[in-house]
Amino acid sequence: MSRFRMYPTPAQQIALLEQCGHARYVWNLALEQWSMWTPAKGPTPGFAEQCRQLTEARAVFGWLRAGSQTVQQQALRDFDQAVKNFYAGTHRRPTWRKAGLHEGFRIVGAQTSRVVKLNRKWAAVKLPKIGWVRFRLSRAVPDAKSYRITCDRMGRWHIAFAVIPPPVPAPGTGEVVGVDRGVTVSAALSTGELLTCPGLTDREQARLKHLQRRLARCRPGSKRRRRVQAAIAKLHARAADRRRDWVEKTSTDVARRFDVIRVEDLRVAQMTRRPKPKSDPQRPGRYLPNRRRAKAGLNRGILANGWGDLVTRLEHKATGRVEKVNPAYTPQTCSVCGHCAPGNRESQAVFRCVACGHQANADVNAAVNIAAGRAVSARRETPPRVSPKREPQHATSA
Ligand SMILES: [Zn+2]
Repeated sequence: MSRFRMYPTPAQQIALLEQCGHARYVWNLALEQWSMWTPAKGPTPGFAEQCRQLTEARAVFGWLRAGSQTVQQQALRDFDQAVKNFYAGTHRRPTWRKAGLHEGFRIVGAQTSRVVKLNRKWAAVKLPKIGWVRFRLSRAVPDAKSYRITCDRMGRWHIAFAVIPPPVPAPGTGEVVGVDRGVTVSAALSTGELLTCPGLTDREQARLKHLQRRLARCRPGSKRRRRVQAAIAKLHARAADRRRDWVEKTSTDVARRFDVIRVEDLRVAQMTRRPKPKSDPQRPGRYLPNRRRAKAGLNRGILANGWGDLVTRLEHKATGRVEKVNPAYTPQTCSVCGHCAPGNRESQAVFRCVACGHQANADVNAAVNIAAGRAVSARRETPPRVSPKREPQHATSA
């Protein structure tokens, strides 16, 4: 993806939001149809059948006809892809699109070539039913078959061209690095570097708490509630921006400096799932404490550190050079003599081997173990049949 910030005029923003609304409406309708379907009704309508139904709907409803057909058809294609991903087991069930949260649509075909450079800093793209919209030229515009227009929760518009940039070349030194991901430090490298993913500052966090309390007291549907919600969204967006920036810079840096990158094979989605309720054997129907809030706090820590994102981006940038290592016992094994005992871990931060006396930062010790570790790869190859209309996908590293 090659993303540019777009600056539509206020009138264009209204028109763009309307198109986003159409795409969302079509997606949700397709989702409703898909989830209401029963085996008794025969095969589920596919993309072609849904397109036919869309044409019928456009003939009946003027407001739908006022929107772009490409936008609405691509929403169906996106949904089709989402269903395929779900059945392939790579993605979760498609979810409802919500106003203010999922604002965006996709354009394919001849329109994608309608981009003109205005000057050194600005370019414009012609969008169906909207006209020429300006965007900031922060890099060269790539040659893409499709692009996506999105509006984030802070109301910033972006245009993203679907192209895969070439992977970062390996340095060729044969150097191997282990990356251990933690909660107190975001990532420890086997070279001894400790990297921390920036989040919100203490002041920003306090403000977020304050705003969340205020939101809870606002009347639903009120103007004040919407204002508070916007302020909260702004803080969340700021945290996400900082996290993304860190993930991108760190992954590029690591991909540039090392030939082989070993990471722990962790299932972030499984790890961050809520704990099972514990039923009380004495009183049926009642439950014992299961430390759910504590787990929620840890989950926030894991997700806020961008664990999954870092590895995903590393796999994109250093294709075929990322190896996943079984993380069992890496924290309690000595990286010098190999002695493995729970007593080695003096505290959360300090590692001291009971056999040889080797002392190190606990995360760095684990990272060294990971760097030396055996790779266990259990990844599927990408499916062979790919539609030409489909956005290019990153090949996952083996
Ligand atoms: Zn030792």
